[in-house]
Amino acid sequence: MARISLGVLLFSLLSCLAIFAPGCRADFPPPEVTEPGIVVLPEPLDRGAPGRVLVSGLDPGSTVSGSFDGKPIFFFAHKGNLVGLFGADIMIEPGGHPLSVQWGPDPGQRRTITVTVKDKSYGVRDIKVPQSQVDLSPSDLARTQREREQTTRALGTQSPLRLWSGEFIEPVPGRINSSFGRQTRLNGVLNARPHAGADYLVAEGTPVKAPADGKVILAGDHFFAGNSVYVDHGQGLISMFFHLSRIDALEGQEIKKGDVLGLVGKTGRVTGAHLHYGLYINGARIDPPVFRQMTASLYAD
Ligand SMILES: [Zn+2]
Repeated sequence: MARISLGVLLFSLLSCLAIFAPGCRADFPPPEVTEPGIVVLPEPLDRGAPGRVLVSGLDPGSTVSGSFDGKPIFFFAHKGNLVGLFGADIMIEPGGHPLSVQWGPDPGQRRTITVTVKDKSYGVRDIKVPQSQVDLSPSDLARTQREREQTTRALGTQSPLRLWSGEFIEPVPGRINSSFGRQTRLNGVLNARPHAGADYLVAEGTPVKAPADGKVILAGDHFFAGNSVYVDHGQGLISMFFHLSRIDALEGQEIKKGDVLGLVGKTGRVTGAHLHYGLYINGARIDPPVFRQMTASLYAD
C-alpha cells in the first residue's frame, strides 16, 4: 500500500515537472542568490594611496569587473579570492567615492559601496632650475606637448592580463630624499601639480631595476623627465623611471623583476642625480613605496 502511494506521488511529481513546470515552480524555493563577500582595504584610504578590494564566495571561474571613482578595476585570482587593485589619485577630492563590483551579467549582480578618502598633507619642496626650463621657448613647448601625447598614451595602457606577481622590489637601494605627493615651489612659484613619484638619492650610474615583471611600453629622452622608461605590469598598472643617464631597455621588450632598465642620471629638469620612480593604477597617481608595502602584505602568509 505504501509502495503504491509512493509510486503515485512520484508520478504526480514527474507530471508536474514535465507538463506543468511553470505552475509548479511556486512550490519550490527560489534559486539561491550568491552574494559575494566584498572587503576594501585600507578603509579609509589616504589620497595618493593604493587600495585593494577582495571578493570572496564566488565560483572560481566567475568574471568580475569593477570601478573606483569612474576608473576601471581589474581582478585576478589570489589565495582563493578575487583581488582588484585601485588608486586614490594624489589630486582626488577627500570624501566618499563610489566603488562598484559586478560579478555577473544580471544588473542585480552588482554592488556599489562608498570608500572614504582622507586628505593627507605631503608638504612642499623648493626647487631651483634654470628659468629657461620654466618659461619654455616655442620649440621646447612644442616638444613637451608632443612628449605629453606619448606619455598620456602610455599611461592609458590597460592590458587585461596581470603580468606581475609577488612583492615589488625597490628599483634602487638608496633613500628617498623627496617623497611622493609634495607640492613643488619652482624658482619660488608654487606649481599646481604635486610631485607624482618618489625621488631616490643615489649615485649616478647606479643600475635601475624593474620592480616587477612587465613590458616596456615607452623609452625615450623627454624634456622634463630626461631619459625615461615606462613599464606596463598589466591590468592598468604602469611604473616609470626618469632622469636616467642611459636607457638599457627597448620598447616592446618583456622584462623580469630585477632586470636593469637603465642607469641613474641627471637628465631632464633636475637639480642633481637621482631616480624619479612613479606608479599609476588606471590613471591614478599613487605612492610607490606604499604600493610595495601593499604587495608585501598581499603575499605575506
Ligand atoms: Zn621626482
